[in-house]
Amino acid sequence: MYLHPRLLALAKGVRWRIILAAVVGMLAVVAGVARLAVAAVVIFKIIHEDAAFSALAWPLVGMAGLILVRSGLQYLQEVISHHTASVVKVALRERLYNHCLALGPGYFDQSRTGDVLMSLAEGVERLEAFFGRYLPQMIVAALAPIFIFVFMALIDFRTGLVFLAFALLTLVLPNLFHRWTRNSSMARRDAYGALGADFLDAVQGLPTLKAFGQSRARGVLLAERAKALFRTTMGVLAANSATSALTILGITAGAAVALAWGAVRVSNDELELRSLLIVLMLGVEIFRPLRELTQLYHDGMIAMSSAEGIFDIMDAPVEVVDAAEIAAPLELTPEITFEGVDYAYSGGRRPALHDLSFTLNAGETLGLVGPSGAGKSTVVWSMLRFFDPQNGRILLGGTDIREIPLEQLRDQMAVVTQDTYLFHGTVAENLRFGGPSASQEQLEAAAQAANAHDFIIQLPQGYETVVGERGHRLSGGEKQRLAIAATLLKDPALLILDEPTEGIQPNVVAEIESVITDLTRRGDLSVLLVEQHVGFALRATQRYYVLESGRITSSGEGGPGAVDAVRAAMAV
Ligand code: ATP
Repeated sequence: MYLHPRLLALAKGVRWRIILAAVVGMLAVVAGVARLAVAAVVIFKIIHEDAAFSALAWPLVGMAGLILVRSGLQYLQEVISHHTASVVKVALRERLYNHCLALGPGYFDQSRTGDVLMSLAEGVERLEAFFGRYLPQMIVAALAPIFIFVFMALIDFRTGLVFLAFALLTLVLPNLFHRWTRNSSMARRDAYGALGADFLDAVQGLPTLKAFGQSRARGVLLAERAKALFRTTMGVLAANSATSALTILGITAGAAVALAWGAVRVSNDELELRSLLIVLMLGVEIFRPLRELTQLYHDGMIAMSSAEGIFDIMDAPVEVVDAAEIAAPLELTPEITFEGVDYAYSGGRRPALHDLSFTLNAGETLGLVGPSGAGKSTVVWSMLRFFDPQNGRILLGGTDIREIPLEQLRDQMAVVTQDTYLFHGTVAENLRFGGPSASQEQLEAAAQAANAHDFIIQLPQGYETVVGERGHRLSGGEKQRLAIAATLLKDPALLILDEPTEGIQPNVVAEIESVITDLTRRGDLSVLLVEQHVGFALRATQRYYVLESGRITSSGEGGPGAVDAVRAAMAV
């Protein structure tokens, strides 16, 4: 009998359903007991009283009726149990999803996506077996022997006691193997997670593998992972088989002892043959739930080890704590100030940001340039509060961003990054991430302003063309123009452009730069333009900062002259 206290806690809202399933299961046991009691009487009448078939007709009809009732009740128990399991899974998925959102991208940077994905999708699915089959059967297997014993005791207390003792022993005996089964199922879970993570890696990185001619080597690694999963699965099966064998041994030994002792007592005239027959028949029913439980041990074990992966995610601490709700939205000037900000990634070799102080004034276009690894993206993500600085503070309109509700904070900002992600859906749906209630006219106006309208109408279904995963492939430049259009629909007070032309065909770069220049000229937007290459971010901005190793190393007025000055300073 293995139970997982935290898994049981997940069933908090559906306990009455589980109890209902167990009650229906117990009613099925009652129907089974009644059928076997009638069967014992029929056998006794045939053997001892040489009864005619006509005398047995009604008991036989009764038996058939009881079989039907029992089947119906078992079906009902299954329906209730599976419905319960679905309710638990839906609630758990919602909790996990909300927790993942609260954990934010920082958590996924630190964990292997495939492993987390396995827990979120497959792990939750595995709980179906625990709540839908294992748990209700466990309750029935624990209660049925006690109920049947009461019935047996009325007929023959001593044989009933033998059955009860063996039934309860058989229920708890598997605990002897608890450590073995737990360890083997945890090993299997780890192997499964590793295979999932490497498999996802291989699929996502397929072009890189092909380009470097590493597909075969990766294939070998995946084969090793699959073998590890095979070995650990065999380990789980071995542990489960041992558990099942022990249960079967307990059941068989119990039945044999009861039969032998009953036979001795019948031959000594201490017990009526009819009573022994009835009690032995009931013995079948006392052990039935246990026998059925042995078939579920494997599912139960796998579910419990999957739960560990789920609890790992649920236990991951949320580092960014949302500010308390405020009655009215704060009136915030779109001005960002970094005040002595330090930030180091866990596991990072050195701090990504070091005593960083700078200001982006309201309505200003500010350039932030620096070599790769300087900390530019870290500046952007910390403005969005994907993580909080270890020291110092970031202010929006003079208010510490930790005191602004996350929704309001992120509402003020829009970000175009170097790797814009398109979701599977139509162009229009992707654009509406910026303005969920935007009309078609508004979509088109935003697309026109972002210089995206012309290429969109040339797509096979125009704005209704499916893009993203398994959709029409867009070039880097087209994706960026869509991202800018979505940003315009959001109409933010603060626009952050994190290397928006990185990796884009040189002939399209000028086009995107001209769209950005138009935006910066609007005057109602505060713009942070982050670039690695010294050029556009300096030409197009009013002021600039140079960031190196997480610190500001120089600053000045933007414009064409700034390019040469910074080039000379950075020697790039
Ligand atoms: P690039 O232009 O190449 O994108 P960047 O200037 O944006 O570089 P960041 O991505 O902010 O630089 O990284 C700053 C430093 O933090 C780098 O040394 C990087 O290796 C490190 N870093 C970034 N992300 C993580 C992470 N998730 N865990 C550990 N270290 C990280």
